[in-house]
Amino acid sequence: MTTILMRGKPVADKYRELITKKISDAKENGKLVTLAVIVVGDDPASHVYKNRLVKLIEDLGGQAKELLLPADTEEEEVINVIKKMNRNRYITGILPMMPMPKHINGDAVGAAIAANKDIDCLSYDNLGGFFAGNNPYAACTPRACLAILEHYGIELAGKKVVVIGRSNVVGKPVAMLLLHKNATVTICHSKTQNLAELTRKADIVVAAVGKACFVTPDMVKEGVVIVDVGINSVDGKLVGDVDPAVEAKASAFTPVPGGVGVVSNMMVMDALTRHI
Ligand code: NAP
Repeated sequence: MTTILMRGKPVADKYRELITKKISDAKENGKLVTLAVIVVGDDPASHVYKNRLVKLIEDLGGQAKELLLPADTEEEEVINVIKKMNRNRYITGILPMMPMPKHINGDAVGAAIAANKDIDCLSYDNLGGFFAGNNPYAACTPRACLAILEHYGIELAGKKVVVIGRSNVVGKPVAMLLLHKNATVTICHSKTQNLAELTRKADIVVAAVGKACFVTPDMVKEGVVIVDVGINSVDGKLVGDVDPAVEAKASAFTPVPGGVGVVSNMMVMDALTRHI
């Protein structure tokens, strides 16, 4: 069995040219495409992610506006900042880094973003449209998973897919996108019983758990397709939610790093330039 290594770079590169052109055309028309990134607190992963996005938007010819707020900022203040950005015509899109500190309801923050500036499909208008199947701009990471599967020619219609994780930004929307593509989807979470029994029957496993090497070889069948969304830092090394030993049984898998994350960042830029 040949195994397909589903790297993110060729998928991201397909979007790069068009996005660069849009940003450059906007500049010629006097508009500098601007991504506002809001980070509340000191979560290292959020800062790493923020820095990558800042670098990418600058590479593509746009600019970033970073808003760094202390960890004890009140929810109301974060929402007020977002409302101001909604009205600021120099800001093209708004992306708050999740998770927010515990005293802040991330859903309420997301809901405050104007639909036309909402990069990660957090506002209720965008979420409603997406769940109804009318909004192609789902959250960026789920869109990245689907773009990768499509690029590498993985068939979805009628396939049994197990998604591990049910967060609003990854698990739930990726399951919905797969459903829109006619896959038969099971969503698992921390209260799921006999998880391995379910994953062993799956043609495709999407791991979005946030636990290093959570999916082990005994949990999957021979020939499984693996989409590893996880980003975990172990001894200073980035590892996914899937044990690398699973690769030996997989017909296709996304590496970590170099898989979903690369495409996800480009999807942020795609969403940023959708209205320009
Ligand atoms: P999250 O909000 O923490 O959600 C984790 C999900 O995993 C929850 O639904 C949780 O279930 C479930 N879970 C936890 N332990 C479990 C267990 N033992 N068995 C089954 N399910 C379990 O995380 P997230 O924001 O969705 O992110 C998931 C992972 O993707 C993280 O590693 C994150 O860093 C990564 N990520 C990567 C990208 C990218 O671009 N590659 C983007 C975003 C996130 P409950 O709901 O029951 O608690």
